[in-house]
Amino acid sequence: MGIEKDFELTRSYDSKYVLNVFNPLPISFTHGKGVWLYDADGKQYMDMIGGIAVNSLGHNNKDLVKAVSDQAGKVIHCCNYYMIPQRSELAFKLCSNSFADKVFFCNSGAEANEAAIKIARGYFYYKGHPEKNEIITANMSFHGRTMATIAATGQEKFRIPFAPNVPGFKYVDYNDIEAVEAAIDEKTCAVMLELIQGESGVHPADVEYIKKLSVLCRTRGILLIFDEVQTGIGRTGRLFCYENYGVKPDIMTLAKGLAGGVPIGAMLCTDEVATGMKPGDHGSTFGGNPLACAAGNVVIDKITDTDLLANVNSVSAFLFEKLNELKEKYGKIVDVRGKGLLIGIEFDESIQAAGMKTRLMQEGFLVSSIGTSTIRLAPPLIITQREAAMFVTALGKILKGSRKGK
Ligand SMILES: *Cc1c(COP(=O)(O)O)cnc(C)c1O
Repeated sequence: MGIEKDFELTRSYDSKYVLNVFNPLPISFTHGKGVWLYDADGKQYMDMIGGIAVNSLGHNNKDLVKAVSDQAGKVIHCCNYYMIPQRSELAFKLCSNSFADKVFFCNSGAEANEAAIKIARGYFYYKGHPEKNEIITANMSFHGRTMATIAATGQEKFRIPFAPNVPGFKYVDYNDIEAVEAAIDEKTCAVMLELIQGESGVHPADVEYIKKLSVLCRTRGILLIFDEVQTGIGRTGRLFCYENYGVKPDIMTLAKGLAGGVPIGAMLCTDEVATGMKPGDHGSTFGGNPLACAAGNVVIDKITDTDLLANVNSVSAFLFEKLNELKEKYGKIVDVRGKGLLIGIEFDESIQAAGMKTRLMQEGFLVSSIGTSTIRLAPPLIITQREAAMFVTALGKILKGSRKGK
């Protein structure tokens, strides 16, 4: 019997041997199809978190599975000493569909942000301004778990236990243009932020703020970096979230949804910024390998060549409408926010987010909880309105049944 069919063995090995940084729920899955995941007993769950905005095409997507298995049967990995056709093709697709001219591939969001931080500094170094090496980021941001990206993250809890932290970061309040203006000085090389702060509760940036920020960065001669690790690849109803704002960054990072579940990261930049790295300045053993890029090519094709984005926008409109109806009907919900299929539902003090997550899991729906009051939805982009309606019905049932103080 494979271990995936033996939940108790999984559970005992996990608690005994796996470093406990995740504190997982007592549940595991044997397979999936579309938005559905199945456990060893055959119980089905609707995956409303999509591996944290990763499973963009859902589970067991026929074309993605075929591309990955075909590629695995040819070349899984080949080092960057050689050209890699799948990588060339994915770079072409990303650049021809965005502001960018160049792409660096890696394996995760944190690594993509590391590359962004490095190239922003390198850009000014090679221009003869090594003193321009500070990056302004936002309070309550999240940029990853490596040493430089925890330093970039504007939340002390991620940094303090692991001091000394990488220097060169300053934090300002989100959506406050004056705060950025005041923080810029002769050492500033870039401003880096998320267009929707996903990990800290799904808080979108104001359109006016981003427009002003873009002008501010241009006039002060500093780089604008968008961390689209969570918001990119169709998540917000456009291929990239920055398209919703009518501004272009100098650097953008991607990861989560880019290869539909195969580990990948990417740092995209303009030709101008690309002068910030010379051959030998950066690299990655696995980054851009044929397997991950073959998967990425399928995902980009699905978004650009099918009506997937139209689906994201229509299911999103449906969810916002129905979730706001639940808010009207039962109270208890204080806010429904986000964009596309990245949605935060914030509850009042009568509902604990972690408790709601567990209740939803018992009903067969997977979500994530953020802090004490918010749950996050980031389902596969292929979710149908009928499936979304099942989630709304389940949430409504729980809200109806929950009494004050519970
Ligand atoms: C998830 C996330 C990261 C980190 O990505 P990893 O692949 O976990 O390293 C960075 N930035 C944002 C905005 C994210 O949502």
